[in-house]
Amino acid sequence: MLVDTLGVSGRVAQTGRGKRSVVSQPDREMSLDIEQALKSAGLQVTAQRLAVYRAVVAAPHAVTDDICQTVKSELGVISRQAVYDALSVMTEHGIIRRIQPAGSSARYEKRVDNHHHLVCRECSALIDVNCAIGEAPCLAIDDDHGYQIDEAEVTFWGVCPSCQKRS
Ligand SMILES: [Zn+2]
Ligand SMILES: [Zn+2]
Repeated sequence: MLVDTLGVSGRVAQTGRGKRSVVSQPDREMSLDIEQALKSAGLQVTAQRLAVYRAVVAAPHAVTDDICQTVKSELGVISRQAVYDALSVMTEHGIIRRIQPAGSSARYEKRVDNHHHLVCRECSALIDVNCAIGEAPCLAIDDDHGYQIDEAEVTFWGVCPSCQKRS
């Protein structure tokens, strides 16, 4: 009986906190999502990991330097190594995705579905494009040479509209 009462009041208190929260709804949902994602990957939920994740969400395809800047402005102090560690552990567990088009530094994004990228040869602008097929690998080859293929990494290269105007 005592346990039941505590359980109920615990839930009520949680709902109350959520409603009074000053954090906007999408932000709150995002931190719940990432906390859940870290937990189900067996990772500790740390302020550093949360801040790194938020920085990746705020600027899709950001490079490590930019992520470091964003995280520093949020947390005050964080070592570069801690940012690297958070990025690589979350990448390994499929929470974020690392991409590295030829000639670019590594970039990180929250979107982990099978999608591709358009890169401008002139200004390096990079945007997402949906995969036409939707599932990896989205390209069929006539001879797989016995490999079990799980991904085709596709990067479309070209010149973006603003660079076309400039030339
Ligand atoms: Zn361009
Ligand atoms: Zn992307």
